[in-house]
Amino acid sequence: MSAVGSLSPFVNEPFLDFTVPANAEAMRAAIAAVRGQLGVSYELLIGGKAVATGKTFASTNPAKPAEVIGVHAEASEADALAAIEAAETAFATWGKTSVAERVELLLKTSKLLQERHFEFCAWLTVEVGKNWAEADADVGECIDFLEFYAREALKLDGATTPIQYPGEKNMLRYVPLGLGAVIPPWNFPLAIMAGMTMAAVVTGNTVVLKPSPDAPTIAAQFVKLLQEAGLPAGVVNLVQGGPAVGNALVESTKVRFIAFTGSMKVGLEIHEKAAKTPKGQRFLKRTILELGGKDSIVVDADANVDDAVAGVVASAFGFNGQKCSACSRAIVEDSIYEEFTEKLKVKVEALKSGDPAENFALGPLVNGVAKKRVLSYIETGKGEGKLLTGGAVIEQDGGFFVEPTVFTEIPATARLAQEEIFGPVLAVIRAKDFEDALAIANDTEYGLTGAIYTSSAEKLERARREFHVGNLYLNRKCTGAMVGAHPFGGFNLSGTDSKAGGPDYLLLFTQAKSIAERL
Ligand code: NAD
Repeated sequence: MSAVGSLSPFVNEPFLDFTVPANAEAMRAAIAAVRGQLGVSYELLIGGKAVATGKTFASTNPAKPAEVIGVHAEASEADALAAIEAAETAFATWGKTSVAERVELLLKTSKLLQERHFEFCAWLTVEVGKNWAEADADVGECIDFLEFYAREALKLDGATTPIQYPGEKNMLRYVPLGLGAVIPPWNFPLAIMAGMTMAAVVTGNTVVLKPSPDAPTIAAQFVKLLQEAGLPAGVVNLVQGGPAVGNALVESTKVRFIAFTGSMKVGLEIHEKAAKTPKGQRFLKRTILELGGKDSIVVDADANVDDAVAGVVASAFGFNGQKCSACSRAIVEDSIYEEFTEKLKVKVEALKSGDPAENFALGPLVNGVAKKRVLSYIETGKGEGKLLTGGAVIEQDGGFFVEPTVFTEIPATARLAQEEIFGPVLAVIRAKDFEDALAIANDTEYGLTGAIYTSSAEKLERARREFHVGNLYLNRKCTGAMVGAHPFGGFNLSGTDSKAGGPDYLLLFTQAKSIAERL
């Protein structure tokens, strides 16, 4: 029986418990096995063919940069254009395949990934510095996206018009857009990369995928998995490189849509370029943009302070604050400010940094540029508030380690309170009262995630109505969105609010055709 025929209801992939000795052992074995494959050369994939280019670049382990993870063929603009041609050719057939065939590809890929769960965790650990739990969450989310979008595609295929007009047969068909560019960030290099790619593919589109140059190996390994699952030639084309290759895709008059997740700066550039309709381009380019955040947690006077401290620490320092959803502002009411910051200091100073392969709570920043940026914000913070803890570099194996850092008494308008740092730096802001706290939380150009800790039902209700973010969390941390339960996407300049992992996401990769037949 086909996998589609026996499809059970969607459930999230359970998290691995690494306190179970067998799981810890399996993770260590996977890291050792992956270490046996380091430094291997990878080629591009264009129209089903491996393509070597004249130029290569290496991806390295951010915890010990001397360790080369993979050597990748770097695409030129000409390679990007060849990949677009290949995707265009493949669309002529893939766009006409049955939804069952497309769904089957996702389900087979999911099964292979489940079998190699630990191996993919290990690649995430060595290439971007995720500790075991963070790596597991990324792999689990990827499996969830594959399973969830497979089921959503089947639902979409069964869509009908709300009304059957008398004397007619009315139909609504969600047809693919065409060929698209998928440009993911490095920080969820498996889940976000695969989620955007496979949402496009399951709805009948073809893709040119350009991963982040900080995480090319994970993408190359995923594309290999797709091939094992039966990926037809040209349906997903892989080109590696940086902004120049990404830009060639963005500016192409053949690219019908761009699914981008990354920084606000690059996202806004893409938005602007995509709005142009050069002569000969017969469509409005669609953009699906998920950008940065300046996410806050409001701690109300009547909150359980211990719970709030735990939630802020997990949200601010999980994966070193390198999440779009990370809490970078704790907005704390005056009457509990001292109690909160004292308890916060103890918890933050208990966090241990080190090699994520050894499963330390905190690992390195992704690269030298990120380390420099974070250190520069730490210097800015010293002028804008008081350093409560951290602030220093940790010297270890040449890795990009910076201590988890907290500044108190940061004014709501300071740079530390307004700009995305994307690192382990938390600003604690004093609020006069709940009203003030909510106003500070909303005073940002971003609007991605936010949380509030309070025991007041009335204040929770006000937050539901007035806290202006795409993903709001009540009495819990603001990171860790689960596919299906927390459709993900931000307001304001945090993006187009695409709600990945939600019931509306696949619509973004389709156009609806309304068909009326007279009976
Ligand atoms: P980035 O914007 O630097 O890069 C993202 C991707 O765009 C990479 O593949 C990069 O090579 C490519 N790129 C860079 N310049 C380009 C250009 N001019 N034209 C085309 N492509 C270009 O972001 P990053 O450092 O990889 O990721 C971190 C950022 O992503 C943070 O701002 C974070 O908040 C955001 N993010 C957002 C979400 C979300 O769902 N909203 C999720 C994860 C990360």
